Amino acid sequence: MGLYCFGIDVGGTSVKCGLFLTDGTLIEKWEIPTRTENNGSEILPDVAKTIQAKIDERGIEKDKVDGVGIGIPGPVNEHGEVPCAVNLYWGFKAVSRELSELTGLAAQAGNDANVAALGEAWKGAAAGAKNVVMVTLGTGVGGGIIVDGKIVSGHHGAGGEVGHANINHNETESCNCGNKGCLEQVASATGIVRVAKQELAASSDESVLRNNSKLSAKAVLDAFKDGDAAAVRIMNKVGEELGGALAIFAAVIDPETIVVGGGVSKAGQPLIDCIQKYYREYAFSLCKDTPIVVASLGNDAGIYGAARMVIKEA
Ligand SMILES: [Zn+2]
Repeated sequence: MGLYCFGIDVGGTSVKCGLFLTDGTLIEKWEIPTRTENNGSEILPDVAKTIQAKIDERGIEKDKVDGVGIGIPGPVNEHGEVPCAVNLYWGFKAVSRELSELTGLAAQAGNDANVAALGEAWKGAAAGAKNVVMVTLGTGVGGGIIVDGKIVSGHHGAGGEVGHANINHNETESCNCGNKGCLEQVASATGIVRVAKQELAASSDESVLRNNSKLSAKAVLDAFKDGDAAAVRIMNKVGEELGGALAIFAAVIDPETIVVGGGVSKAGQPLIDCIQKYYREYAFSLCKDTPIVVASLGNDAGIYGAARMVIKEA
């Protein structure tokens, strides 16, 4: 086992970089811009350059570095290959192999949401758990499945795409993925607003949400925490769909901990209580007490998980 490793998290506008000790101590983190020109051809060379600069700056011996892990916003298969990543303007790219050739280090790529789940399972809200389900509630719904300490990337790299689990066979509106009835359509920030509009149209009681021309998920969550009756009904609907979906995932992998992350999770314990109530109702008997917790690493989950992927076992 080496002494150091790098964790990299590539986003559409910036690349987050972390230098870690292999015990999980974050020594330093920094960012570089994501250069998407020329079909993103400079992104991996830029990553290799910043890693080499850090190695030189700190006088690190290269054979003391276990490697570099990297999270990519797109599907990544078990070979570390990306069929396409639209935010980076990439077509097919063998990321693990290219980054290894560029750095002279072992390299491993993973999908960014899956990698963040691994970070939470390593040093975050589910620290130490071998089996974890994470759902990330942001503009969309993403997530990651960790089984026996490893990311489940799946045959197509679509492992952990929990937002597109079909939960409503009667949905008439389309999800961004083209299907109808995905979890994302009710549990994402945009999904919560959609549910809110439906609920407000179907009722007529007083609500602070009723005359809000710019209805946002945050406004719904704030009203929910203040006990606004319509907001409570809206979040109960969201919590039931999410709790029910998590119960299905639990029946498949039986996680030790379930982690809820993303911007929506800033609503905290009231949101968790709302999800847990329905999760307990729908989960298989042995899984009913599985803790549901809010993610704790925030935007650093990606660099932690990326670093964890390349640490050689002692
Ligand atoms: Zn979908």
